[in-house]
Amino acid sequence: RAAGSAEFIALDEQWSTHNYHPLPVVIAEGEGAWVTDVDGRRYLDFLSGYSALNFGHRHPALVEAAVAQLGRATLTSRAFHHDQLGPFCRELAELTGTDVVLPMNTGAEAVESAVKLARKWAYRVKGVPANTAEIIVAGSNFHGRTTTIVSFSDDETARADFGPFTPGFVAVEYGDAAALAAAITDRTAAVLLEPVQGEAGVVVPPDGYLAEVRRLCDDAGVLMIADEIQSGLARTGTLLALDHERVRADLYTLGKALGGGIVPVSAVVGTREVLGLLKPGEHGSTFGGNPLACAVGRAVVRLLATGEFQQRSAALGAHLHDRLAGLVGDGVSAVRGRGLWAGVDIAPGGPTGKQASLALAERGVLCKETHGTTLRIAPPLVITQEELDRGIDAIAEVLAH
Ligand code: PLP
Repeated sequence: RAAGSAEFIALDEQWSTHNYHPLPVVIAEGEGAWVTDVDGRRYLDFLSGYSALNFGHRHPALVEAAVAQLGRATLTSRAFHHDQLGPFCRELAELTGTDVVLPMNTGAEAVESAVKLARKWAYRVKGVPANTAEIIVAGSNFHGRTTTIVSFSDDETARADFGPFTPGFVAVEYGDAAALAAAITDRTAAVLLEPVQGEAGVVVPPDGYLAEVRRLCDDAGVLMIADEIQSGLARTGTLLALDHERVRADLYTLGKALGGGIVPVSAVVGTREVLGLLKPGEHGSTFGGNPLACAVGRAVVRLLATGEFQQRSAALGAHLHDRLAGLVGDGVSAVRGRGLWAGVDIAPGGPTGKQASLALAERGVLCKETHGTTLRIAPPLVITQEELDRGIDAIAEVLAH
């Protein structure tokens, strides 16, 4: 007899750290927008690995690229050149309209790298006195889990017991351009923002805010860093979420979907003025820019270059938001988001986010709550409208009260 869900969950409980609280679903296989658990039950994936699976599970073009590269070379370290790095960086830079690419692995590493770059730029280019540079961040941000990154988080669960923290960060309210303007000083190196705050509950800033941030940065000689790790790569209906406001950042952090849901691939992309400051020995990563990562990343860039996924996200996202708006007043108090990405606030008196996620799993739909009473919905961009409707029907059913 094959082991069932309960046995795998018991193993996780005993042998892995308890830094997550997963739904009791044990996935064995995935294809497109669907996963199958070890007991043979099928579920629609409405989370997409927090947007790491924008192209769905095992997209054939991505699997093909990975398998082909597995038969050639997988790791060289950056001690040597290899034949995937240059092409990947060129293709990603061309796709994003940037000059240079710094390849890393995880999202948090990309953010850490951007912090280092902004500080170096402040000292070498802007002339900020040594060790006094400041980076302005937003309240309710989420940029990862390293000690420096949690230093500028305001989520006490993410911070408690992990101090002392890294200084040099100033937080202002997200969406408030006047607060940002007031926080800029001669020592400000950069403003670091998520163009849409994912973990905070898919929070879209007021119209014009991001363009105003750009203007304030230009006026004060401050870098604008957009963390597009969750919002980028077609999730909101455009390549980058900043594209909605026709705003360009100096640096973008990318991750999650950049690895096609196959390997961890992240990057900082941006101007040569900033990225060109890094010299040998100042920064690096054993796995960053490895041949397998670059080969998969190139296949991701090829998918995005077609525009198909941006277009699907925009069209299906319009349908998703239409339907979710219809639930407001019927178990839902508010809906936010852009493209195939939504935060659904459960109305008072309804189930908790956790209860709703469990009830949805029983109906064959997988998503996850954030902040207690918000459901976060991010289906793979390969989902069909029929599948999307099936998931939304389940949400309507579970939340109606
Ligand atoms: N930045 C943003 C906006 C994110 O949403 C995340 C992950 O959720 C990260 C950074 C961190 O990425 P990773 O978990 O790959 O370190």
